[in-house]
Amino acid sequence: MAETTTDETVGEREHPDKSPEATEQGEDGVKASTGKPGQRAEVSNLDIVRHYFDKAAEHLGLPDDLRVVFWTPYREVTVQIPVKLSDGKTHVYSGYRIQHNGARGPYKGGIRFHPEVDVDEVRALASLMTWKTAVANVPFGGAKGGVNCPAADLEQSELQKIARSFMNKIEKVLGPTRDIPAPDVNTNAQVMAWFMDEYGKLHGHTPAICTGKPIALEGSYGREAATGRGCVYMFREAAPQLGLSPADTTFAVQGFGNVGSWAAKIMQQLGSKMVAASDANGPIRSDAGIDANALAGHIADGGLITEFEGADSIDPDDLVAVPCDVFIPAALGGMIHEGNADRMECKVIVEGANSPTTPAADEILRDKDVYIIPDVMANAGGVVVSYFEWVQNLQHFRWDEREVNDKLGTIMRRAYREVSSRAKEEKIDLREGAYLVGIERVVEAARTRGYIT
Ligand code: NAD
Repeated sequence: MAETTTDETVGEREHPDKSPEATEQGEDGVKASTGKPGQRAEVSNLDIVRHYFDKAAEHLGLPDDLRVVFWTPYREVTVQIPVKLSDGKTHVYSGYRIQHNGARGPYKGGIRFHPEVDVDEVRALASLMTWKTAVANVPFGGAKGGVNCPAADLEQSELQKIARSFMNKIEKVLGPTRDIPAPDVNTNAQVMAWFMDEYGKLHGHTPAICTGKPIALEGSYGREAATGRGCVYMFREAAPQLGLSPADTTFAVQGFGNVGSWAAKIMQQLGSKMVAASDANGPIRSDAGIDANALAGHIADGGLITEFEGADSIDPDDLVAVPCDVFIPAALGGMIHEGNADRMECKVIVEGANSPTTPAADEILRDKDVYIIPDVMANAGGVVVSYFEWVQNLQHFRWDEREVNDKLGTIMRRAYREVSSRAKEEKIDLREGAYLVGIERVVEAARTRGYIT
């Protein structure tokens, strides 16, 4: 079924390898640093997503020939991105755009800039988007993109060159009715502005080409906070049945970036107390509480998280073991794994990150009675408000923030209720329940279109 794109500038390869740059940087990367506490697990994001998909497909009795359709993406595009950096040398990065399934609407998914991006990670994240958009019931398919550049070490002008070059090379498979990118790790509203501008040079002003844009460029109010806010909406739905009251809840955040910091700020508005937080520079802890707004301000001003006053810097391995009610992973995939899951002291995990929990860790946590609100529903707030942004852009109309947040709340609550009632009916956990709901919707759409029979 995979479509072959013949245009040379797109440079599609069926099984693309890592670029020399990626290979050079990747050897010491995540997959080599096996399942030690505080590090990412040996198992890849693709293994994680396939495991959960297969489990649900088995439950649904989905025939093998249909499973194969969803095991592989519809289209994969790999491009070479050579850029001259401030060291005077040309560095060659690999960029990927992978469209997993478009039965329910245009492809939708973020673009990540990170040295550990590789084709399998992007495949995994693209398929997760297919199930996530279906669970939230927004009219999109699933896609993901990434460039394996060391974004955190690059200057703005270098990031701009990479963003423009990437957009220029993948624009043929994008479009407001085809595939609409959004921010992800190390990309933000500024990067979306460069994407929109570059696309506009070829196609005219097209704000609906990507979402997560700055407010000044037809971005949506509420988009920046949406993923974190959506996580909090999900927690609020779950809290009563778990005997938790947000005003008396303690929480820890792994990855105090966009998703993590917004989730923390909004939890704090409900009266919850943050007792630990981390980013790539390390974790901090304070049983007296860490002010999420002050920490966000400290980091925005260029401060290191580990130098934040009023909290103690702790060993990276120990963040997961900090006692709290709610643990919010909001960094990278595979960070809760066989090597650290049994140390966790929380009652609930709200997966802000994609694929943070390996299947082995998932089982350990289930045995410990930890309630997991899985990525495929918990972090859907971003794509839901991206949907609102796209709708506003197509109409050249703008909703105020209250309207956006209210509509987001309605969709997140509906998704939680649909999944949790299915999970109760079938006596399964939320993750399996969410995959059942998502897969059924995608299969129905694909069948009705005649894509599969
Ligand atoms: P971001 O770049 O804004 O933040 C990522 C954070 O993780 C940063 O603070 C970074 O320092 C930290 N981090 C990196 N490595 C770490 C480590 N080893 N230990 C602790 N912290 C570490 O990215 P984001 O957009 O907030 O995305 C975070 C996660 O949420 C990703 O898994 C992403 O796929 C997922 N997600 C994001 C969105 C969105 O709308 N941005 C939507 C859905 C899911």
